[in-house]
Amino acid sequence: MSSNRNIRLFDICREGTHVLGPGLRYVVWTQGCPRRCKGCITPESQPLDQGTDFNIEALAADIVNNDRIDGLTVSGGEPFLQAQSLALLLQLLRQIRPELTVMVYTGYTLQQLSRIPYATDVLQYVDVLIDGEYIEELNDDKGIRGSSNQRVIALSHRLDKYLASMADGIRKIEYVAQDASSVTSIGVPHKTKTLTL
Ligand code: SF4
Repeated sequence: MSSNRNIRLFDICREGTHVLGPGLRYVVWTQGCPRRCKGCITPESQPLDQGTDFNIEALAADIVNNDRIDGLTVSGGEPFLQAQSLALLLQLLRQIRPELTVMVYTGYTLQQLSRIPYATDVLQYVDVLIDGEYIEELNDDKGIRGSSNQRVIALSHRLDKYLASMADGIRKIEYVAQDASSVTSIGVPHKTKTLTL
């Protein structure tokens, strides 16, 4: 893999959140999604030509140098549109901080991912995959999945004790101060919003 690659992101949460998986988790939201799910929680992440390019090695360094976090959660957008770049990011994390767990949201089902280029390169580093399109009518307000058709799938055993609460537990919203002038709300099903104070 190239050492000079970028990944295009909608947003990041460097401070970490407790509401998108176990422990304190760094979050990256990838940019670009071809679906137009009704009630999408991050419609701003859909356009393919928006977002910000992040150097993958610099982003990986920022994540591994955060000694407060327990893992990384990747959401979107559709993360697997940039599967090759995401695989490189996760490879770097695994090499440097193998104890960090990785969770990834995707609109594809796990079965559909078998046809997506480089998806298996990503999945080898993923502990929990939350798969399937968001269907607003199936939003049952449970867990950290958006709707009941989505599955919380363990691809390793490292987060097994949290699987039930991730699938059916109580949803929470967290407000994170990103800097001195803005607060971001994070959680499911609400979209991330930046409020200027
Ligand atoms: S898959 Fe996710 S990001 Fe894409 S349109 Fe649906 S809810 Fe929005």
